[in-house]
Amino acid sequence: MSESTAPADKPRILAVDDQRLNLNIMHGLLKDDYQVMVATTGEQAIKAAISAQPDLILLDINMPGMDGYEVCQRLKEDPMTTRIPIIFITALTESEDETRGLELGAADYITKPLHASVVKARVRTQIRLKRQNDLLESYAFRDGLTGLANRRAFDERSALEWNRLQRAGEPLSTIMIDVDHFKLYNDSYGHGQGDECLRAVARALAQRVQRAGDMVARYGGEEFVVLLPDADHGAAMAVGENLRSAVEALRLEHRASKVTDHVTISVGVTTGRPSAESNLAALLQGADEMLYACKAAGRNTVQGRELSR
Ligand code: GH3
Ligand code: MG
Ligand code: MG
Repeated sequence: MSESTAPADKPRILAVDDQRLNLNIMHGLLKDDYQVMVATTGEQAIKAAISAQPDLILLDINMPGMDGYEVCQRLKEDPMTTRIPIIFITALTESEDETRGLELGAADYITKPLHASVVKARVRTQIRLKRQNDLLESYAFRDGLTGLANRRAFDERSALEWNRLQRAGEPLSTIMIDVDHFKLYNDSYGHGQGDECLRAVARALAQRVQRAGDMVARYGGEEFVVLLPDADHGAAMAVGENLRSAVEALRLEHRASKVTDHVTISVGVTTGRPSAESNLAALLQGADEMLYACKAAGRNTVQGRELSR
């Protein structure tokens, strides 16, 4: 099999060893079935794990500088890499070594010299488990009605972004969205068509939130939430208005609405600078308050606030 067979579909493996020879052996064993990347130091391994998100890491223990144990520990501590399984590959054969590795969260352990059939079998097992976990996770983090990210996915991502942006000193904006008079929509057209309406609104929102790193999620019921990392308040307000007008442009009939004769949304926008003195809950609450200000002001509108700290 050559490299040309859709390498993007092959599971990705990161092999880490300070000895080129060992990397060559692993690459030779695995290259037909996997996309194999290599790193020769612990630092390189951590960078590659974060950026390439491999499905499995084969990790040497004895390396100059940061050893495999430390690499494993750091990868397990970082939410970006904690779910990537690690197999230790080492010449150490003492059972304490093996125990230590497993206690640090490694999935398995292979001793050198490497036997082709052992390596392939154990790698295959870990990749299969990883793929199953990925699938379960995709169900656990996606909203069943709209296909958008769900509340849990939003909570997890927003916490990660909060910490990242605090380190980077960049702003974080959030947008809370609520469909106007949606109870009346259900009363008027039935719950089934209400569901269809929510799907259509979700699609319209997702089409306008496309920048890498941005996220739109179903927050609950007929409420949606958007996360805009690095966006200042002006940019976030522009996105909010874009979303409002996108839903209005759908021209979904809503004969019972007290706003107009089609489906509309209210949009609350906040921007904050993540810091030790501020918190994510306050940012979201601010967006919620802006949303209710829209409702009080007649709906189908956008209101925003920049948090001072
Ligand atoms: P407002 O403009 O003030 O937001 O009024 P509203 O009627 O939209 O607000 P309210 O919170 O009173 O009603 C929300 C409605 O959304 C009530 C609930 O039945 C409906 N709803 C929540 N989740 C779903 C869903 O998954 N499908 C459908 N069809 N309706 C839903
Ligand atoms: Mg609501
Ligand atoms: Mg509503």
